[in-house]
Amino acid sequence: MTNQASQQNLPVLVAGGGIGGLAAALALVNRGFKVKVLEQAPEIGEIGAGIQLGPNAFHAFDALGIGDKARARAVYTDYMVMHDAIDEYQVGKIPTDEAFIKRFGNPYAVIHRADVHLSLLEGAQETGRVEFLTSTRVVRIEQDEHSVTVFDQHGNAHKGVALIGADGVKSVVREQFVGDPARVTGHVVYRAVVDKEDFPEDLRWNAASIWVGPNCHLVHYPLRGGEQYNVVVTFHSREQEEWGVTEGSKEEVQSYFQGICPKARQLIELPKSWKRWATADREPIGQWTFGRVTLLGDAAHPTTQYMAQGACMAMEDAVTLGEALRVNDNDFVKAFDLYQRSRVARTARIVLSSREMGRIYHAKGVERLVRNDLWRGRTPERFYDAMEWLYGWNVTNCLARD
Ligand SMILES: Cc1cc2nc3c(=O)[nH]c(=O)nc-3n(C[C@H](O)[C@H](O)[C@H](O)COP(=O)(O)OP(=O)(O)OC[C@H]3O[C@@H](n4cnc5c(N)ncnc54)[C@H](O)[C@@H]3O)c2cc1C
Repeated sequence: MTNQASQQNLPVLVAGGGIGGLAAALALVNRGFKVKVLEQAPEIGEIGAGIQLGPNAFHAFDALGIGDKARARAVYTDYMVMHDAIDEYQVGKIPTDEAFIKRFGNPYAVIHRADVHLSLLEGAQETGRVEFLTSTRVVRIEQDEHSVTVFDQHGNAHKGVALIGADGVKSVVREQFVGDPARVTGHVVYRAVVDKEDFPEDLRWNAASIWVGPNCHLVHYPLRGGEQYNVVVTFHSREQEEWGVTEGSKEEVQSYFQGICPKARQLIELPKSWKRWATADREPIGQWTFGRVTLLGDAAHPTTQYMAQGACMAMEDAVTLGEALRVNDNDFVKAFDLYQRSRVARTARIVLSSREMGRIYHAKGVERLVRNDLWRGRTPERFYDAMEWLYGWNVTNCLARD
């Protein structure tokens, strides 16, 4: 390790102990730093829901040194499939078999969020170089030429050589340095995990499966060796929504999804309890590095969920940050600049593509007919070509070339 950090023997501060914060902590430890993670929650943990992982996520796991842990907890799908939720028409089916793995060097998978988080947490704990402070909410940041000081809700000051703001969609770090408004979508997401015995046999596919309907869609896939299933349903709300998570109500979710085929509609009858997300994103920004402070994950590029890539992007961010430090001899100011240049366009593409994907999923009338015609007769290879920009990412090509 070089210069400033070793001289001052200060840790790098990470605001937020979610998937992005823990991935960042691992990347920083791998560069020789000590890390202090400041997390507002009383425990470091994750909510009960699944996520999808593209091959790029597995490249990131390997680069962070936790590939084996994450692989052991994932469920490997045979295909992705989209059906029209009105008439069950199969809009598209993409095999994620050997040919897919050969093309992208890694598989497609689905996993419980807590299992991704746990793999990162175990990896970070095993290094012995990450300190976790829970019930510690970052409220304000000061910096000078050599260090950053973070103040928490109790007025305590935490000093570090740099700060990574990985404090999620409502980032306080972003609020202080950018202060831009959220773009509330009015789309509401209900998520639940259902035991296998409660999940319909005719939908127990080993696939990332989506049913697309007018102003709504439904997603399901297996978790934990097929012992559980993740169920996610999304609809355009009739209410004026505010960005946030609350307990869901069975009555509300059942009041939507009229006109949907019974096979898809049975999904909304299953969960015993639901969590309700009123979603938002923000306009992509070109600057998220401010001296010794930078943003990462949802704090940097909050997105709607339709590309299923938010957590994958957070882990890519962390790997790229580590690489930027490596090629800049651990100089934070230079590395943060290179990290930002390497990430802005790619993550903005996710945010913007995700909005378009939401429109395609929720198409109605003639737009629905166009959607259902889009991929007719398309070969797996043509699908894979279209995915190359996304899944072809890895640690060797992650840095911007000047
Ligand atoms: C419905 C839905 C489905 C999704 N599906 C997928 C998918 O299939 N694949 C995928 O890759 N992604 C998916 N995502 C996105 C993914 O969940 C997020 O992008 C990812 O969790 C972002 O991680 P993060 O660490 O940046 O933020 P978070 O997970 O939000 O973590 C932020 C952490 O910071 C803490 N924090 C917040 N403020 C402060 C503060 N001031 N001080 C200290 N701590 C603070 C929080 O408590 C939290 O622990 C989905 C998201 C949604 C909503």
